[in-house]
Amino acid sequence: MRKIEELGRPAILTLAPYVPGKPIEEVEREFGITGVIKMASNENPLGPSPAVIEALKAAAPRVYNYPDSNCYYLKREMASFFSLSEDHFIFGNGADEIIKMIGEAFLNPGDEVIHAWPTFSEYIFATKLMGAKPCSVPVGENFQHDLDKISEQIGSKTKLIFICNPNNPTGTIIRRQEMLDFFEKIPSDIVVVVDEAYYEYVTDPQCSSAVDLINKNRVIVLRTFSKIYGLAGLRIGYGIANPEIISIIDRVREPFNVNLMAQEAAVAALRDQDHVSQSKEIVIDGKAYLYRQFDRLGLKYIPSETNFIFVNIKRDSRKVFTALLKEGVIIRTGDIFDQPNYIRVTVGTPEQNKRFIVCLEKVLGE
Ligand SMILES: *Cc1c(COP(=O)(O)O)cnc(C)c1O
Repeated sequence: MRKIEELGRPAILTLAPYVPGKPIEEVEREFGITGVIKMASNENPLGPSPAVIEALKAAAPRVYNYPDSNCYYLKREMASFFSLSEDHFIFGNGADEIIKMIGEAFLNPGDEVIHAWPTFSEYIFATKLMGAKPCSVPVGENFQHDLDKISEQIGSKTKLIFICNPNNPTGTIIRRQEMLDFFEKIPSDIVVVVDEAYYEYVTDPQCSSAVDLINKNRVIVLRTFSKIYGLAGLRIGYGIANPEIISIIDRVREPFNVNLMAQEAAVAALRDQDHVSQSKEIVIDGKAYLYRQFDRLGLKYIPSETNFIFVNIKRDSRKVFTALLKEGVIIRTGDIFDQPNYIRVTVGTPEQNKRFIVCLEKVLGE
């Protein structure tokens, strides 16, 4: 009899499970403490818009029905928000699901997929899942995407390129002109995925969305309701692309992949742009505070265009992570990004930022 492991597809044996941020309840259970704060998964500390909560209450009695497979109302809302026709959108159970669907729709075993490193690990997951080969291109000095090196990596087997703008975990952006120059060099039969999960947080006018490139190039832009919109627990994200590309991805989509509550919440969230602006403001102020504190503590950080900061704490981040957990503060270690002396911290409310700094200073002094 063969071992169970040998029954799994060879491709999946190379997959490592995703390492998520630790949930608050788990840390409270493990350490027997309360009042834990999570600054680990880039969630919105303000929570969702109050209008979202109302919409969810109103929709609750209808959960016995299947959701709308085509997200009709949400798609219509999106189309008007982006001034594009409805066939430019696809929705997923988080942007994560769309990344996986892109892999399923485009990748054959042996195809190559180029991505920067460090970046969001789901691109590698979707690639390996399909038996394709991830080709990672280290970020340059300043931790920015090295688009020249990425375009040099392109070979006859290259099928997809993933670009994360702004990048997770570095918080860096790609400037408009660099992006345009890059597209000049890309053979037209390569699909470029531009993940803009944090785009709503960007303040640098030199960074611009790739949404206006979708009808000239083979580009898929990814966005999510998990980050600035504060709906991470509901799981909804979306892709924007040329309708022909959308229809290819749509072939691998499960019929009811986006749940009913998520669709209702997303419509309400999109309509409350005041909440989005308020969320952006609190992050801008929070970053200014945290930068001042890191400067005071002599810690180098990468200036971020997102709601998290990658900070060099000059020692093993796993130890600092564990010590911070005991203080009730959850952050992310850099080892999962091959930067063991870095931590990634999500900008919280003013109180959370302050508490994080007090605890960090204590832990670093021990
Ligand atoms: C959080 C994140 C996503 C995925 O978000 P979902 O919750 O699956 O919508 C996608 N890309 C990046 C870079 C992220 O950080």
